[in-house]
Amino acid sequence: MKQILVISGKGGTGKTVVAACLAVLANKSVIADCDVDAADLHLLLHPEIKQTRIFTGLPKAVIDQEKCTSCGECVEVCKYNAILKNDELQFRIDTISCEGCAVCTHICPVSAIFMTKHEAGQWFISETQFGTMVHAKLGIAEENSGMLVTTVRKEAQAIAQKNNLEYVIIDGPPGIGCPVIASLTGVDIALIVTEPTLSGIHDMTRVLKLANSLGIKAACVINKYDININNTEKISDLCHNTETPILGQIPYDESVIESIVAGVPLTMHVDNNTTAVLKQIWQQLKEY
Ligand code: SF4
Ligand code: SF4
Repeated sequence: MKQILVISGKGGTGKTVVAACLAVLANKSVIADCDVDAADLHLLLHPEIKQTRIFTGLPKAVIDQEKCTSCGECVEVCKYNAILKNDELQFRIDTISCEGCAVCTHICPVSAIFMTKHEAGQWFISETQFGTMVHAKLGIAEENSGMLVTTVRKEAQAIAQKNNLEYVIIDGPPGIGCPVIASLTGVDIALIVTEPTLSGIHDMTRVLKLANSLGIKAACVINKYDININNTEKISDLCHNTETPILGQIPYDESVIESIVAGVPLTMHVDNNTTAVLKQIWQQLKEY
């Protein structure tokens, strides 16, 4: 089984368009949408949800109002200011601010505080016409998206192994934080989709460094390479200097937007020079 992660270092580079096309070209892989904060692969692959599971994040503190004597000691020790007094002078936990450190449970003289798990989001096992898709939705203002990414990836791997499928195609989250590290860990290849802008180069550099530091093989795709040839050359130099292969240069193509509006992966929407490049990228990925 080969796990292919499509990643960008930032949003808006065409990462999801590329991931959706790879899912089509792989012809029955397991697809994992690890962009759990802002998932949008479903807009192109139209998964039909078969199973919904609850994601419980880290435990949060809860105050038992029956036991609480309103002494206020817990407020003093909570360095996240997550314990508030309401209009009825009751102490309560602000679950958004609570980091789950549990210090307050030890300090409360009457043992009125306990830790409890809570629903932090949902994840789904769905069917698409291109294979099973595992995806998720993190609750509003919830953190721990790294944990949710790991959950999605583990399930996608398990489904691929159980069904003897050759590929897991992963649409990664943007940035270089915890969810990205959770996406990168253990994949066979990270395909970095970048664009020839200064921010694109900057973000690609960061995510490439991260992949290298984790010992993950990386390759690059330059999207809309023809909008700024100078910057495309800078990306080529960066790739050359870091021994990162460029698997394809995708031209600016209005049919990309048309396919997004139509809700169809580009390789199913048209057959043109752009889709030919995407097919070449897939061929190289299989051999990489
Ligand atoms: S668990 Fe930690 S962060 Fe949460 S309320 Fe208690 S002391 Fe504050
Ligand atoms: S320390 Fe315990 S008793 Fe005191 S206010 Fe907090 S929860 Fe209530």
